[in-house]
Amino acid sequence: MLTLLNSLLLNFSLLIATLLFAFLPLRRIERISPNSSLQVRLVIGCIAGVIGALLIFNSISYDVAKIDLRLVALVTAYFYGGLVSGSITMLFIIGARFAVTPAGEYQGLILTTLICVALLVTATIYRRFAAQRMKDYLVLLGTGIAYSLPALYLLTNTFERFLEIALVYIIVIMIGGYVTYRFLQELRKHFLFVHTQQELALTDGLTQLGNRRKLDETLAEYAQNGTVFSVLILDLDHFKSINDTYGHEGGDVVLRQLSHLLQSYCPEQGVVGRYGGEEFVLLLPDVPLRQAERLGERIRSACADQHFVYKEHPVFHVTLSLGAASSDQASTVFETVQKADLALYEAKQTGRNRVVCYRDPLL
Ligand code: GH3
Ligand code: MG
Ligand code: MG
Repeated sequence: MLTLLNSLLLNFSLLIATLLFAFLPLRRIERISPNSSLQVRLVIGCIAGVIGALLIFNSISYDVAKIDLRLVALVTAYFYGGLVSGSITMLFIIGARFAVTPAGEYQGLILTTLICVALLVTATIYRRFAAQRMKDYLVLLGTGIAYSLPALYLLTNTFERFLEIALVYIIVIMIGGYVTYRFLQELRKHFLFVHTQQELALTDGLTQLGNRRKLDETLAEYAQNGTVFSVLILDLDHFKSINDTYGHEGGDVVLRQLSHLLQSYCPEQGVVGRYGGEEFVLLLPDVPLRQAERLGERIRSACADQHFVYKEHPVFHVTLSLGAASSDQASTVFETVQKADLALYEAKQTGRNRVVCYRDPLL
């Protein structure tokens, strides 16, 4: 019995180690369920199938029975990915069981197939009354065990031999399933947490736009991919006097209202971010300078026309100055931004509330 326990523990370690590796490529997918895309469900089925096959290749032979944790792989696939994932895992399991079956001794293979099919059918009926909870996972696993026990009985030589292994089998599968479930839930929580932290690190707290780090990352991507782009730098005019008149809180309200306006004008492929203070940047991939200038002009005039409101104060207006430059005017992405900044400086110098495109040399 000790050998059996020890071998099942090894089987269990194999299950956990492979699950950990397999989970990594799926960490960005928020919640895997039978409603996930077909592609995700196929991948889940294949991953659980490979794990199931590995478990079978490392199973313990007991008379003609092969004992391992394949049930956990099958139930996990069905639980997360539904019938599509479960069926694919089943095919892997049957294939692996066939590979380890000596010629002529097909009872084990037939029983494996029957157990898998019966389990998937039962699970599909049960799913109507179930949700994605631990209780449901354990019910499915218990059903799998219940279907496997008669097969184990048929494949062992005597009733004593059957009793010898049945208890260990039930305990190890239930504990293995429980630990696997908790392990996957913890991994999911952990990756969700990391993902949220990553998002926060790239988001400006006041406006919820991308922050400077986000803009720098996007520029680095453009540089790596050789993307042609234009950049607009926008700076609120006389913003200090807004703060002086309405207080810092009033200034913050203006920054938030402006960020909504910028988001509504930013094209789908573009990125809008707060560069710092009252300065914003729009990165426009595959947009030539003239088109960027026209967009800048539309934003400038929309901002000038916007009625800004803060508490009981009468509505007021705020203007923007903008500088534009294009990547084909510079040799690096950061030089492009510098040139847009020079154009913005020019816009400020020549009266504000205007768009200036970088020209070489600047007049
Ligand atoms: P210009 O037209 O030349 O750009 O004049 P300006 O007053 O807009 O520029 P200046 O650089 O003199 O002042 C910018 C002001 O923006 C000063 C600073 O207090 C304010 N500011 C920077 N960040 C924030 C913020 O997060 N919230 C608020 N309310 N004000 C901010
Ligand atoms: Mg300003
Ligand atoms: Mg400024």
